[in-house]
Amino acid sequence: MGIFDTIHASADVIEQCGLRCSNCNETLGDFQTKDLNSSMSTYYLRHAAGPGTPIKLYLLDEPDEKYWVEYTAEEIEKNNEGLQNSGWRAILTRRTGDGYFMQKGFLPENRHQRDMGENPHCVLRMYGACVCKRFIDIDVKFTDGIVVDVKIECSELQESDLVE
Ligand SMILES: [Zn+2]
Repeated sequence: MGIFDTIHASADVIEQCGLRCSNCNETLGDFQTKDLNSSMSTYYLRHAAGPGTPIKLYLLDEPDEKYWVEYTAEEIEKNNEGLQNSGWRAILTRRTGDGYFMQKGFLPENRHQRDMGENPHCVLRMYGACVCKRFIDIDVKFTDGIVVDVKIECSELQESDLVE
């Protein structure tokens, strides 16, 4: 797997742009792309100011500190004990201050969303897979940072797509 970025689409955008699988009609809201910085960043495709306003792409900041949960001393001890004879010890050992972001910290509405100005001015290809195993390719055309066209292609997953 190469490096990519993730794009989430808001429910409004999914509805308005018809982001659905043409095979099973399932809605599609999570995609990957290699057309941006390919830096494992997360972007959000949404209306600039509510329904009816232009659709733009926003860069999401890392989850806010307030969603950070530190492991307790007990959790750290229990985790590290279990690693005594593990080859993964160096990587999986937890220290004071280690922790994780709560799931809700990753929700777009709980993250700072950076307006990308008039960028991108391009066709952005994003791709994903449907639960029915179809491969989804979506070309999103931006002009001056605003979505002007969306093309969806839905194809059967080939065996060769799964080997990378
Ligand atoms: Zn489907």
